[in-house]
Amino acid sequence: MSKTIIVSNRLPISLQHKNGKFEFKPSAGGLATGLGSIYKEGENIWIGWPGNDVEDEGQRKEVVDELKKLKMAPVFLTKKDVELYYEGFSNETIWPAFHYFTQHINYEDEYWDAYWNVNKKFCDAILAKASDSDTIWVHDYQLLLLPMMLREKLPNATIAFFQHIPFPSYEIMRMLPWRKQMLEGMVGADLIGFHTYDDMRHFLSAVGRILGLSNESGFIQADNRLVNVDAFPMGIDYEKFEKAALSPKTKNHVKKFKQTLGDQKLLITIDRLDYSKGIPNRIKVFEKLLDENPKYRGKVSMIMVVVPSRDQVQSYQTLKEEIDTLVGHINSKFSTLNWVPIHYFYRSFPFNELSAFYSMSDIALVTPLRDGMNLVCKEFVASKTDKKGVLILSEMAGASKELVDAILVNPNDQEGVTSAIVEALSMDEEEQELRITSMQASLKKYDIFQWVKVFMDRLQFVKEKQADLE
Ligand code: UDP
Repeated sequence: MSKTIIVSNRLPISLQHKNGKFEFKPSAGGLATGLGSIYKEGENIWIGWPGNDVEDEGQRKEVVDELKKLKMAPVFLTKKDVELYYEGFSNETIWPAFHYFTQHINYEDEYWDAYWNVNKKFCDAILAKASDSDTIWVHDYQLLLLPMMLREKLPNATIAFFQHIPFPSYEIMRMLPWRKQMLEGMVGADLIGFHTYDDMRHFLSAVGRILGLSNESGFIQADNRLVNVDAFPMGIDYEKFEKAALSPKTKNHVKKFKQTLGDQKLLITIDRLDYSKGIPNRIKVFEKLLDENPKYRGKVSMIMVVVPSRDQVQSYQTLKEEIDTLVGHINSKFSTLNWVPIHYFYRSFPFNELSAFYSMSDIALVTPLRDGMNLVCKEFVASKTDKKGVLILSEMAGASKELVDAILVNPNDQEGVTSAIVEALSMDEEEQELRITSMQASLKKYDIFQWVKVFMDRLQFVKEKQADLE
């Protein structure tokens, strides 16, 4: 019996140490839900790092046994692995490079060595469970070398790779000393997926120029093996957000929040702390709006949620300080006793409170400088069950290719984003309804379950095409 193995850096659980015992909380994230339809079936399994370091052999056994019940298997990483492979090469080398923040790239051979070694650790953990007839779906930029490592050991396995972050232009790729090995690692897969057509094009161009492999309509011939590359924009669990917005729990939160905030227009922004999200730019734009339009003072507030992330990395600590300063500046400049421009939260929120934020806000301001997809904007649209609301979306987010009925902006254009907010604040309800309805229709159709299905169907098609050519 062949099985399917999902592989990602992090397992879809959080592991917490409480009173000498481990507690396992399955993640409710969209990807985990979408892939749930796969790994929970039959002999299938999800392999990845459980998120904490577990050094003790007895405790490792406990973790293995507990995870087994959840259809998962761990790859244990040491503190040093996490520091050099995860915080280092993944988040200080690949992440800034692939998001076009070349000034933040750290070129460290030590990071690269750890990256290779941890990809090998993943490979060994998979080989302990996999056979040549299995399907293995590897996720994201922390594991670029894994498809080829697996291919060398399991030449006939069905191997797929999906990258959840952007793939940059060749000009960026060529800056990385390890570019060739990274691309070779990826082409070990039979199917390579990206969120957008542009990411796919950049990848094919890099493969052509660095590996000398040409392509025909997204098919590469690598070592006599056909590799397909294409765009598969990831969706959300639409129904979950729609249902939540209509639930009494969310409605109670909305009522409570609205009582405190009074009658004013609300802009929502939600991001993980990251320089790619353009948070400082957004605060500056909001200040410009209030500077230039005194009529909005006291009438419009921004709810800004920044979810803590990667706070061990220096550039993230600096960014946090910059945001704190900017928020302090604008709030001290404009606040009155009963109104503040920005309600700023540096923490995450429970799902129903998030749902309340989405459904009670008039405008979502989603202006990343670069984003592979961006799910926040999709979740906002899905939560608008009354069809009222306006999405302002950065052209640099993958989602902008699908959500063309948003007000699309260049996040570097302060004047343009300010005008977009003015336009959104004055948009009539009929137009809001038209735009939201159209975006909802496409998000509902291409939800996360459809994404998984389309990707898996294509993988099967590629294998059949390979077989026909033999
Ligand atoms: N999110 C969350 N808790 C919060 C705020 C946000 O779980 O308090 C979720 C949000 O619902 C979304 C995800 O974090 O699904 C952010 O995904 P996105 O693609 O927008 O950005 P990423 O963080 O992956 O770069």
